[in-house]
Formats: sequence, C-alpha cells, structure tokens
Amino acid sequence: EASLLSDPNRKSRELYERACEVMPGGVTANIKYFEPHPIMMEKGKGSKLFDVDGNEYIDYLLCYGALIHGHGNEPVMKAVYDQLANQGTTIFGTPHDLEVKMAEKLIELYPGIDMVRYTNSGLEATLLAVRTAMAYTEKDKIAKFEGHYHGGSNQFLLSVNPDIEKSGTEDEPVAVPESTGISSHEVEHTIILPFNNMDATERILRKQADELAAIILEPVQGGFIPADEEFIIGLRKLTNELGILLIFDEVKTGFRTSLGGCQEIFGVKPDLTALGKVLGGGFPVGAVGGRKDIMMISAPNGGRDILSAGEHSAGKKEILFHSGTYNGHPTVLAAGLATIQALEESNQMQKLCDRTKLLRQKLEEVYQRQGVDMQTIGMGSIFNIVLTKETVKNYRDLQKANMSLRKVIDHELLLQGIYTKPLNRYSMSTAHTEEDIAKTVEIHEKALKKIRG
Ligand code: PMP
Repeated sequence: EASLLSDPNRKSRELYERACEVMPGGVTANIKYFEPHPIMMEKGKGSKLFDVDGNEYIDYLLCYGALIHGHGNEPVMKAVYDQLANQGTTIFGTPHDLEVKMAEKLIELYPGIDMVRYTNSGLEATLLAVRTAMAYTEKDKIAKFEGHYHGGSNQFLLSVNPDIEKSGTEDEPVAVPESTGISSHEVEHTIILPFNNMDATERILRKQADELAAIILEPVQGGFIPADEEFIIGLRKLTNELGILLIFDEVKTGFRTSLGGCQEIFGVKPDLTALGKVLGGGFPVGAVGGRKDIMMISAPNGGRDILSAGEHSAGKKEILFHSGTYNGHPTVLAAGLATIQALEESNQMQKLCDRTKLLRQKLEEVYQRQGVDMQTIGMGSIFNIVLTKETVKNYRDLQKANMSLRKVIDHELLLQGIYTKPLNRYSMSTAHTEEDIAKTVEIHEKALKKIRG
C-alpha cells in the first residue's frame, strides 16, 4: 500500500494534499476518491493518460465511458475549434441549427425517439424523463432496479450499491439510501425491483401499478450486466398493460452497445430514453428522447391542448416545465456530432466491439492461466472483470465476486500503467490499438503473478 505514497506519485500526493484543504475529501465527486489517494492527471492522448508525475497509463476509464474515441480525437477537436471560430462566440443562448441536426440524428438512430430535449448531464436527463412520466401519467411514484445507477439525485440514490443485509429479500427488495439527506417522502415514492427476475418484478408492479408513473432501468446494469431478452420483452409488455411508462437509461449504453443503444439490440422500444456521455464527445451533455405524444407535453406553443383537445378545459394549458441556460450548447453538440460521425464511418462501431471482444478473450485466458476464477461480462464496447465463475444476472449475484482481490489487482494495475478506477468497468475506445491490448494483457499477467506470489 505504501508504494503509491513513494516517489513515483509524489506530485499527485502533494497536489491531493492541497486539494484536501479546499474540497471535501480532496475531490469534486465522491466516486473519484480511492485509497491511498487519487492520481492527478495532466494530459491525455489517444488511449493514454499522463499524470502530474509524468507516469503514463492506458486509460480504460475514459471519463466513465464518455470518450469513445479516446483523448484528443482529431475530428472531434477540429469540430470544436471550427465551431468556436465560425460561431464567433462560446454560446448563442438561443435556438440554433445544431440542436436540430443532432435531434434528427438521434431520431434516425434510436427506435424509441421521436422528439428530443437537451440537458447538461445524464442526471438531468434521467430527472427530466421521470418528471415527464409523472406529468404524463398523473401518478407520482417511480420504480427502479436494485444496483442500477441513474445519477446522484435523491430518488436515484436508493439501492445502488446497498448492503444486502439491509435490503430485504431478492423477491421483495427494500429501498436503502446511499446517502444522507434523502427524505422519507422520496423513499416512500420509490419502489425497488429485482433485475432479471420477472416473477418478482411482475408481482410488485401489479400491486403498485395505480401509483407508478414509470420504471427506469439501465438495460445493461452498470453498463455490463445485460437484461435477459425475455426479461426486457416481458417488462415492455407488462408496462404497456399496466399503464406504466418504460424509461431506458442509456446514458452508458447509448453509442456504446450499438449506435442505436440497447433498444436497437433488444428490439424493444422504450417510451422515454435518457442519453449522455458519448453524446457530448467529452463535454457535459444529456438528452431525453421519446414518444411524440409524451414529449409534446413540454411544448410551450400548446402542449396538451393541441394533442388531446377536449380532454382539458378550453384555454387551460398544462405544460411541463423544462429549461436550462446551457441546454443544447453549440460547442458541445458540435463535438457530439463529430463523435457520432466518426463512429458511423468505415464500420468503426463494429471494429470497436470486435477489439473489445478480443481484449476480453485474452484477459480471460490470462486469469485462467493464473488460476483465478474470473469471467468478463459486458456488451459492445464496455465490460467488467468479475472474479467469480458463478452466473451473474443482477446486483445480488455480483456480491458473490471476490471484490477484495479485485481491489488489490486494480491497485497493482495502476502502479504498472493501467488506469481503471478501482472496481470500475472497462470502456474501450477507437484509439485503443492491438498493441495496447497486448500490453494490457501482459500487465494483468504480471500483476496476477506478483499478487499470487
Ligand atoms: N445514468 C447512467 C446509467 C450513468 O452511468 C450515469 C453516469 N455514470 C448517469 C445516469 C448520470 O450521468 P451524469 O454523471 O452525466 O450526470
């Protein structure tokens, strides 16, 4: 443990000590902290990160998946410089053409998206999706799955990474807050469901249907545990029957499992979709897309009155409020459009997924050679290293994995030049080369040999 505190990370440590004086825990997001201290980065290039001490890392965090083309991708950087130069300002603060272009692109790619609104983060997108669902259905509870993350707001911070001892049974999970400061009202209005367990999910939903506006889920939990096909199809059928909206949170999976996200792969159309990460090409962004009749409830030029004339008394406008100073930021959308374009060119998406598959295969071979129980689980360009041979279908299954060994491995990998936030999933980029893969595999093997003596 002490080795990180010695010379190779002296500048990181000193900067972190300064950070601790001015930011709680020295970080600006709790998840960015790890033991003994986070590494302070200075530069990125392609698949690599360079820290303040000059150490080089192959980056598999990729800003939590956002950087699908790695660091400093030329077409993306150029699009940003050009956009800034041509628009002559940082932002208009008015509607503009890139908002329309991006919306048209999203509608083309995502089966469940007829119309779009932009936000500045994935969390703002999931929040807007939920408010939209509550307004549309006129119900005020939501359901989420145990182990699923939708951003750091109160209702979403229930049962993300809970202590199983406090979480009830798998068939009837209990909401466990991941943070202080969450009101009992929010706990009572959030129903927790067991992922990939249709019988229990159906039982809970049928009981609560009259109060439930929406179910929000990561179609691939944590970006790496996919929904079973029957489960996701079953959930779509059941929510249709019960009048509950289905929200796919594709903040992680959008543009990473396929260009049209999980909804394209599963062939299941959600009512609403939240996007983020890759969509902004490394800049802050989010978007909500969905069915036209639902999305139109935020239209300031008429809203519900136009769509369901007669249902509401004449002249009474019921409009969903949605706003944001920076929504649809032109520089961000320029980066996003260039990112998507580069993914669409010369079959890049398929190549990226193939390269990810190759890395997974080679890593599995290494762990097998070193006698460590392991499987890679994932979809498209994201996966995770899970240290158990048992089947993993949801949060409770995942608890069977050897997390403490994984932490030791991740620490060793960091020292040897692989950047993964401890226990985090691996994201790949189009900048990762076969050489990176070979080096990654070699470092894993070296680390495992060292740890196992
Ligand atoms: N939903 C999912 C599935 C996510 O992975 C994340 C971010 N990791 C969010 C929502 C929140 O996005 P942001 O951090 O941009 O607010």
